[in-house]
Amino acid sequence: MTAVMTIPGHIDPVPVPRPVFAVDDARLNLVGLSKEAIRAALEEAGLDARQAKLRAKQLWHQIYNRGATGFDAMSDIAKGQRAWFAERFRIARPKVEVQQVSTDGTRKWLLQTDDGHDYEMVFIPDADRGTLCVSSQVGCTLNCRFCHTGTMRLVRNLNPDEIVGQVMLARDALGEWPSQPEGRLLSNIVMMGMGEPLYNFDNVRDALKIVMDGDGIALSKRRITLSTSGVVPMMARAGEEIGVNLAVSLHAVTKEVRDEIVPLNRKYGIEELLAACAAYPGANNARRITFEYVMLKDKNDSDEDARELVRLIRKYKLPAKVNLIPFNPWPGALYECSDPERVQRFSDIIFEAGISAPVRRPRGRDIMAACGQLKSAAEKKSRAELDRLAEEKQAALA
Ligand code: SAH
Ligand code: SF4
Repeated sequence: MTAVMTIPGHIDPVPVPRPVFAVDDARLNLVGLSKEAIRAALEEAGLDARQAKLRAKQLWHQIYNRGATGFDAMSDIAKGQRAWFAERFRIARPKVEVQQVSTDGTRKWLLQTDDGHDYEMVFIPDADRGTLCVSSQVGCTLNCRFCHTGTMRLVRNLNPDEIVGQVMLARDALGEWPSQPEGRLLSNIVMMGMGEPLYNFDNVRDALKIVMDGDGIALSKRRITLSTSGVVPMMARAGEEIGVNLAVSLHAVTKEVRDEIVPLNRKYGIEELLAACAAYPGANNARRITFEYVMLKDKNDSDEDARELVRLIRKYKLPAKVNLIPFNPWPGALYECSDPERVQRFSDIIFEAGISAPVRRPRGRDIMAACGQLKSAAEKKSRAELDRLAEEKQAALA
């Protein structure tokens, strides 16, 4: 395992990128490389320019359209050359440690990186479609107080292969190769797993570009949503360079409460965040920005909060919808979920102002796969940390 980076402080410690080495396989993984990078790798390995270009195109199609996991079955490439590829390259998925299935059909995978870090992905099926919830980091450097991932210590950015690899694994599991234009069960992707995607911008962008490529996995940008807790300086670039739908974890409408529950707010405040939303490229009435709002009992769930939320959305003229997320509990959490009647009333106030505000049905709670519950089981807390959490909980309840 690589050395564990400790997280210095609570606000905005951007993780330091570190090189990752495959432990037992020195062959270059083609997954996660751009088409151009594959071409360059082939040239470097000895193919001439024309061959490299042609083979890169074929490999891309095999890997991302057909879901190849090795070179053997690539009938459009001569046998000898297949063996030559296999000596130098691999087409590797993330390693699966554990798979779990919820009583409601939600599936969770515990995955492991080559250097021994755990992360998770979740698939949420519906009748004729389904959403894959993809992780962008191992853990998260932000410490939103209601989020289980935020209590994790280990952090490293996931690389493009580890991000695209999640989508490929889900397709393997659903038997959805080769790419079909219609009728896919894996129809949508949300960057809402572990981590803050805008703190791993380059890798998330490169990975999503691969996922959106029409010759490969070919998922439309309209079916991909990136969720951020409010990394304001990266939002415009996300719109310009990735162009997917934006979701913003707002969760509170006053500085006092948001500072407490989403500590990043101390750095980028609510008004600044909403101004960045108003400027988000590509947002319009047909493609609304989603505001996520976790319902925490007696914390952010009053009528007044709902009315303030409406006022803010109007003030910034935002093409918005609001997703109300009942708080999902986890061991040691300091908060409780608002009562169902309270959630309904909150939703009604927003809805009566002409803004859609559905209440999200929790999925996969029994396997700890719901929003905010992801945290690798392998990570253990120190005694001192457990004591501190217990004290905080006592104080909060007093
Ligand atoms: N880091 C990104 C994306 C991952 S979290 C972000 O914060 O936006 C996906 C969503 O689940 C976020 O809106 C997050 O605030 C919310 N969430 C976190 N913990 C939760 C919990 N315990 N219950 C319900 N939602 C939670
Ligand atoms: Fe990180 Fe998002 Fe959890 Fe906040 S809610 S700690 S940003 S994963």
